[in-house]
Amino acid sequence: MMFDIDKEMLPRDELEALQLKRLQNLCERLYANVPYYRQAFDECGVKPGDVRSLKDLARLPFTEKQHLRSGYPFGMFAVPRETIVRLHASSGTTGRATVVGYTKRDVHNWGELMARCLCAAGLGPADFIHNAYGYGLFTGGLGVHYGVEHLGATVIPMSGGSSKRQVQLMRDFGATGITCTPSYAMYLHEVGMDEGIDIRDLPLRVGVFGAEPWTEEMRQEIETKLGIDALNIYGLSEVMGPGVAQECLEAKCGMHIFEDHFLPEIIDPATGRPLPPGETGELVITTLTKEGIPLLRYRTRDITTLDYTPCICGRTHVRMGRIIGRSDDMLIIRGVNVYPQQIEAILVQEEGIAPHYEIEVSRLENLDHMEVRVEITEGMFASDEVRVMLEYERRLQKAIKDFLNITVKVRLVQPRSLQRSEGKAQRVFDRRNES
Ligand code: AMP
Ligand code: ZN
Repeated sequence: MMFDIDKEMLPRDELEALQLKRLQNLCERLYANVPYYRQAFDECGVKPGDVRSLKDLARLPFTEKQHLRSGYPFGMFAVPRETIVRLHASSGTTGRATVVGYTKRDVHNWGELMARCLCAAGLGPADFIHNAYGYGLFTGGLGVHYGVEHLGATVIPMSGGSSKRQVQLMRDFGATGITCTPSYAMYLHEVGMDEGIDIRDLPLRVGVFGAEPWTEEMRQEIETKLGIDALNIYGLSEVMGPGVAQECLEAKCGMHIFEDHFLPEIIDPATGRPLPPGETGELVITTLTKEGIPLLRYRTRDITTLDYTPCICGRTHVRMGRIIGRSDDMLIIRGVNVYPQQIEAILVQEEGIAPHYEIEVSRLENLDHMEVRVEITEGMFASDEVRVMLEYERRLQKAIKDFLNITVKVRLVQPRSLQRSEGKAQRVFDRRNES
């Protein structure tokens, strides 16, 4: 199924002509309205008028998360504040989150692109879609919500949490589609079984899952356990939110990036050089139509490949593979982005703690768990009782919860008990893909 055949099946030459026109317009807008870009263009020695073909993209400056942070909160906006109708912010960051703003047209386009995604997944106006992505500053909930309405289907705005109730309402309302993280889908299956509700027996047919990395094996497991088709969706708040790319039901093989709105590249993360089609590297996205906070060559830090071979579904838009890693050390814990340095920043504020810590992430009953092991100093080890230690652990747990809004287990360990390394310390152990 296709939401917009004309655009989704646009012949490649026409698509590229459209991209070039939009890229030229984007460069003009950025140069005129965003100080960061004016300076970056000048430093690269290019003017918007120099962009004559898509190949010229490689001469243009990148945008990185730090540029959004340093412009906090609205420094990268390209339109007057009165034309912004909505704000979102990236999850789990420090006081300097990345804030994104949408104009009316941005919100409209987002709804349309999300509708394309749902449609590509086999959902249509007759469907009931249970949306368990979090509502709020995170883009997942509202992004999907407007997409369902744009499609003309029925949205059930559940948000996250209250898992028992989620499964009961899935049964009572007869949802035919579900949107959430893949790990939460697995968790809902288990909660359902405990409640005597086997999701396989419900009308649920399709799941659109994203916001965290997952694997083909996990797809198989979800499809079998829930009795549905499980499809991958990709997006990030800086670029828009969910709906940047979506797998089609026909091929289930890579996510079509909506290239009339987003211009993708793959670069070598170390050198910044564009890589030839088919190679694995960091995904870079230029937003071609966004007004509120348009971005030129945004470095997503997500590692993947692009596949330009034709797809059996008929869409002409390129397909991106699963995200196989990050070119930075960001972790995604239950959908929240977490950088190890954020944890470190909290730990160093505490007295009695040595600057040695380890973070271990594992998956228990399909949910992410994070344990932070911290060495205490000799002085503290000599003097303190168990009760004090427990109190200390609780205080650190609370500090992390307050700061990052994730629940972690903090464990204080004896001085010198954590492994030391001679080179780059390995502090993060992600064991989620080990069974
Ligand atoms: P946020 O800005 O909070 O929406 O987080 C965006 C990040 O989530 C992306 O840069 C990816 O690292 C990750 N992400 C989103 N969708 C997927 C997906 N389908 N597979 C793997 N990672 C994803
Ligand atoms: Zn396809």
